[in-house]
Amino acid sequence: MSSLFLVGGVAQGPLQDAIDTRFPSLFDRVVVLDDINQLLLYLYRERVGAKYIASASDSNTIKPWSFETGIALIVHRPDGTYKDLNPILQRFFPCLNAIALTESQLRDDDSTLSILSRLQQLALICRDRIARMSHWMYDDGPFSGLYLMIRHLRCVQQFNQQVNVIPRAIRSIDFASLLGVTPEMESRLWDSLDTWSFQPHSLQTKELVYCGFLLLRQCARDAKSTVQENKLLLLIFTLESSYHQVNRFHNFRHAVDVMQAAWQLAKRLLTDPLQVLLVTLAALGHDVGHPGANNQLLCKYNSPVALHYKQRSVLENLHTDIFTSLLSEHWPQLIGKTSQGRQHMELISEAIMATDMAFHGNYVRQLQESNQAARDPRSLLSLILKAADISNVTRPLTISAQWAALITLEFDDCALLDRYQAKGGKHNSSTSGSRRNSYAEGRNSPELEHGIDYSDDFYTASPEQLTENFPAIPAGQIFFIDTFAEQFFAEFCKTFPQVGFLVENVKSNREFWVSRS
Ligand SMILES: [Zn+2]
Repeated sequence: MSSLFLVGGVAQGPLQDAIDTRFPSLFDRVVVLDDINQLLLYLYRERVGAKYIASASDSNTIKPWSFETGIALIVHRPDGTYKDLNPILQRFFPCLNAIALTESQLRDDDSTLSILSRLQQLALICRDRIARMSHWMYDDGPFSGLYLMIRHLRCVQQFNQQVNVIPRAIRSIDFASLLGVTPEMESRLWDSLDTWSFQPHSLQTKELVYCGFLLLRQCARDAKSTVQENKLLLLIFTLESSYHQVNRFHNFRHAVDVMQAAWQLAKRLLTDPLQVLLVTLAALGHDVGHPGANNQLLCKYNSPVALHYKQRSVLENLHTDIFTSLLSEHWPQLIGKTSQGRQHMELISEAIMATDMAFHGNYVRQLQESNQAARDPRSLLSLILKAADISNVTRPLTISAQWAALITLEFDDCALLDRYQAKGGKHNSSTSGSRRNSYAEGRNSPELEHGIDYSDDFYTASPEQLTENFPAIPAGQIFFIDTFAEQFFAEFCKTFPQVGFLVENVKSNREFWVSRS
């Protein structure tokens, strides 16, 4: 879904003529806006699916715009404050495929046609799920505007080395109003966060964002760590825009789910509120920039990020570097240049690195060999985040089955991507055509928001219905439980009997999958 934004009095005529005659299918819509302030507000509001209204009584939901399945060309007339918008777009909306040009860059016909022709190629890549993933992971070309993992990393590191002020147009946004928060919404979300039966599939993006805010605000208050509410919300909005909504599984919904699990475990196992804050925070950022594929595929076809990290824990290193850079920018009181700030950063980094499944056996051995070592606060933060990251199999069956369906779809994408790369990574629109396990087969691809279309009935689907739609689920779940989860949670619960319900749930879920296999 591609958009053309005309901002600040840019004339539509000449550009529109070129589009109409040569590229009639390039843009799905044209949006005319007064200025940059309006543009930024518009991007936020469409990304999370919320109207910007003063009165909470009005309906506050719009359909989020699927930015990642197309491009967003922004043509603006530069003013003194915002000459080049691209650094702002990359910093605050890294996944949106937004490209800014000034009116003067499109002044003559030749340059306009060559830019539009390039954008047409990019839009075609965005429409194809597998070509898009391949581009994110393996390309390292000159600036194209489409998301690239390696550029995401370079940008956050570059911003981290500069003294950055948050642009006034972003600072002045009241993010709580944008989300349309009401006391009813706040108490409903708290009720759902406060139980192990947390059901994030029923939540819209704006609610997921607010869940992140509610937990972090509470943890920060308990730890007496100061952060302004609007700044905390900006951090969470920036994080949400740094996760790919189109990923089936590894998206912001997964991040919020892992955060809620980590917080539930942390409040039972940790006594220091600062440590509860650090592990809850680490969980929200632990998969940022995830491409919906795995380390093996990144290494196999020489992704620039795999080369950058010398093929070791590629994704986990990437998530850590992007997230800690964001934190030092948005929460310098907690993650800063003081020795305490550096210590906090190390704890968060270690916990995220622990989510690399290549080290799973080490954590099981650590639990088996020494209960005491596992109780050391440093190890405990890593163990909690690791447990939370694989906690889907410990949730009540209905919720566990929904996660299983999404990971099954993501594994399908990985297999398609492998085949696509093996053939030379050539763009071919048939790559996303056939899929064995497709939810609601025959309908449009359900990839609107965080892997699912929130308006569909995915979150009410029963485990039985899901197994019918995804016949590969039972075998996949039994394999994961037998190979990784059961032993890990058995040892974890032996060391920490207060969370014994985890291993009980794994066992009863396994029984169901065996009965269905
Ligand atoms: Zn994860």
